[in-house]
Amino acid sequence: MRPVALVTGASRGIGRGIAVALADAGHDLVINYAANADAAKEVQAAVEAAGGRAVPVRADVSSAADRERLVEETYAAFGRLDLLVNNAGVAPDVRADLLEAGEESFDRLIAINLKGPYFLTQLVANRMIEQIGTGVVSAPRIVTISSISAYTASVNRGDYCVAKAGLAMMTTLYAARLAEYGINVYEIRPGIVATDMTGAVTEKYDRLIHEEGITPIRRWGQPADVGAAVVAVASGLLPFSTGQVIDVDGGFHLRTL
Ligand code: NAP
Repeated sequence: MRPVALVTGASRGIGRGIAVALADAGHDLVINYAANADAAKEVQAAVEAAGGRAVPVRADVSSAADRERLVEETYAAFGRLDLLVNNAGVAPDVRADLLEAGEESFDRLIAINLKGPYFLTQLVANRMIEQIGTGVVSAPRIVTISSISAYTASVNRGDYCVAKAGLAMMTTLYAARLAEYGINVYEIRPGIVATDMTGAVTEKYDRLIHEEGITPIRRWGQPADVGAAVVAVASGLLPFSTGQVIDVDGGFHLRTL
């Protein structure tokens, strides 16, 4: 039986890279997306080309009803879930200074980037516990894609940083709560990755990476870099580690003198 992974925000960018890497590693996939059905179908085709089965499910992770349906459709399609990857996330529509930014953007980012994964994890964890009890799955795992913004202050997108910092504590909490069931929980912190999200700031990051060396490894991260880290976790290569933060950032987090 092939293991099954649910990846939120899998239609584009990092989520797509994770879905394709997991398919290459032998997983079947639930490809969650918010609106972009054509992009989700492309990922479905890529998973199928790798020999996997894929089911696209449109669902807004910030909506409780959509999260319920996403989980129901996952179990209806595959009867099991071995891996949840909380990846879906958005940047603020406008980067606004901390002294001026409004509540609307804050509420949107907290709802999608923090509340969504927090309660999706709760739903999935309860289902995983049931399935461990009935012997359908053993050692399922949960991975959350946060960001270097969990600890890096960008004063023109405080809402994004606060949401990502919240994901770090979410990982700690679920890791502590789920260890007794054998469910390991991980946080992956990507650095600067080439996706639609960073498309608007390409020139700035090009300069920071290539001229100023903000990352010791002087290149953009790619979705496949994050996919490789998720596959390492999904393959059970870190069995005695939980709550672990995995930096996938070209060394951005290193302090040097
Ligand atoms: P992206 O290219 O903008 O893709 C975002 C994905 O999330 C799309 O698949 C989108 O679906 C989906 N999505 C957006 N809102 C959603 C919602 N409410 N419910 C369900 N799905 C939703 O972004 P990305 O750069 O790949 O980022 C993916 C994750 O990595 C995010 O959590 C982001 O914060 C994090 N991250 C990114 C970087 C970076 O440099 N790019 C660095 C660190 C962390 P549609 O296609 O349907 O719109």
